[in-house]
Amino acid sequence: MPAFADNYIWMLQVGAHAVVVDPGDARPVLDAMATRPDLTLAAILVTHHHADHTGGVATLREATGAQVYGPAHETIPEPFTPLSQGERVQVLGLEFTVIDVPGHTAGHIAYYLPAQGGEAPLLFCGDTLFSGGCGRLFEGTPRQMLHSLDALAALPGETRVCCAHEYTLSNLRFARTVEPGNTNLIEYIAQCETLRAQGQPTLPARLATERQINPFLRSREATVTAAVQEHAELPTDAGEVDVFAALRQWKNDFR
Ligand code: ZN
Ligand code: FE
Repeated sequence: MPAFADNYIWMLQVGAHAVVVDPGDARPVLDAMATRPDLTLAAILVTHHHADHTGGVATLREATGAQVYGPAHETIPEPFTPLSQGERVQVLGLEFTVIDVPGHTAGHIAYYLPAQGGEAPLLFCGDTLFSGGCGRLFEGTPRQMLHSLDALAALPGETRVCCAHEYTLSNLRFARTVEPGNTNLIEYIAQCETLRAQGQPTLPARLATERQINPFLRSREATVTAAVQEHAELPTDAGEVDVFAALRQWKNDFR
């Protein structure tokens, strides 16, 4: 569900039980639950400490008694169950795996739900991976973010990436500047423009698509590396972390 200007709060329902991810605001969640009086909020999953992801946590816990899970190395509204790399969370009869993804913030985590029955795997990655982009480096280093994105990119291609913001079209304008000859990208831009024109979200994104179009998952591709080297005037022997850092800086300065 949309929140603020461009946040998404994801809600997953199994029968009469639900889990929400990163409720920056309690209101949209309470409104959704009011239309389903039989629904119980079983759990709240938090990816990182920023207010647009945690602002509704206390209100929702008080209103529903939901159990809160969050990053072990960040400060979020207490009490919560602290989680880090490799730990598992059992909610709604499902088992999520926690992946450490430092970069946007120092203790950022992501939640991965493997394929269930006929359903594709789901990834709740907060502000780490966006469709066509990645989060800004507020607390982590380029090296950490590159490794975090590598870990996410290694998940199955069918994974549906549930990002926390609708930044897709502006990310794709930058992506097209980096890789003007990427035909998958041009096609994807047209699809996303149609969705937005219809008032639809561009998310969740398919991970396989992100590998084809997202410059931050493609910084080792020859086309992307060459574009970054030229833009940032990097030496031709610049390492992968330097290329990634320059790509992120290019995006920061891009208008
Ligand atoms: Zn954030
Ligand atoms: Fe955010």
